[in-house]
Formats: sequence, structure tokens, C-alpha cells
Amino acid sequence: MKMTEEDFYKEKIFNKSSINQIKVQFPELVNWVKIWYKSDRFKEIQKIKTFLTKKLKQMSNSGAEIKFDNQKLYHLFKWWDSTPKVCYYCSIPENILEDLHNQPNHINKRYPQRGKSLEIDRKHADLPYSDIHNLVLACYWCNNAKTDTFTEKEFKQLGKVIKRIWEKRLNKQV
Ligand SMILES: [Zn+2]
Repeated sequence: MKMTEEDFYKEKIFNKSSINQIKVQFPELVNWVKIWYKSDRFKEIQKIKTFLTKKLKQMSNSGAEIKFDNQKLYHLFKWWDSTPKVCYYCSIPENILEDLHNQPNHINKRYPQRGKSLEIDRKHADLPYSDIHNLVLACYWCNNAKTDTFTEKEFKQLGKVIKRIWEKRLNKQV
């Protein structure tokens, strides 16, 4: 059995194997394990995991049915890591959400609990969150407006209109 750097992160961070366990299992990789354990990528993945866990908890607290074991959490991480951080519907990038909030007439009473970062939305509301292919990133406003009422396709059309409104407010293309 082999272990790549990627496998190491999965083992240590998501499957919670101890460093000693890993070293015993892969004695030829002891030096690599030391390097990977101290890498920036390790810290970054841990940060993302904490962030996602917090997000899932928030979603669960607001009534969503969330069942994520370590394996599913890892898949969620892989999805998150490879998904562009823009709203699937209105295209607003996560890094300019803050600019929206700084507009003089912008009101979001739920900020910063919601609106500060992109949210996890299900394209088809009848499929579970654990179905990773069903997930998209959406801004708070699109997610909040879409609810379970609009289909993904319908809301894509509304997203185009919302995008134009953001552009008008921010006076730039998003
Ligand atoms: Zn949006």
C-alpha cells in the first residue's frame, strides 16, 4: 500500500489517524510525513475543514438535515477546494461580498452570520446535502430567495437579473 501527500492529509485531518499510527504503517515515509505535517497546505486544509464543519453546524441549526461522516466531509472538502468561489446563480465572487455590505443603502440584518461568505445550496432541494454533485455555492441572497420553490434552471434566470443589480450597485462588472 502506498500513501501520497493527499492521502496523508485525508488520513490525518479527516480520518483522524495519529502521526504515530501513520509512521508505523508507512515507515519508509517518516521523513515525508514530517514535512507534510508542517506544510502550509496541511494548515490550509485544517482551516477549510473547521470552516466547513462550522457551516454544516449552522445549516443544521437552521433546520437542514445534515449527515456527514468523515468520508463525506472529505468529499465535501474536495468539492469546496475545487469549486470557484462565485455564486452559482448571480456570479458574485465571494471576495467582493464585503463591498456589497459596504454600500450605503445595503441592509442585511443577519450579517455577519449570513452574507459574509458563500453558502452551500442544493440544486435539487429534494436530494440530500451529502449528494455532493447536487451542491453549488450561492450567495446569501440567492440562496434565501431560491428557497425550495424555484428550480435550479428557474433561479439561474433570476440570477442574471440579480447580477445586473449588483453591477449597478457596485458600479462594476461582477
Ligand atoms: Zn447570488
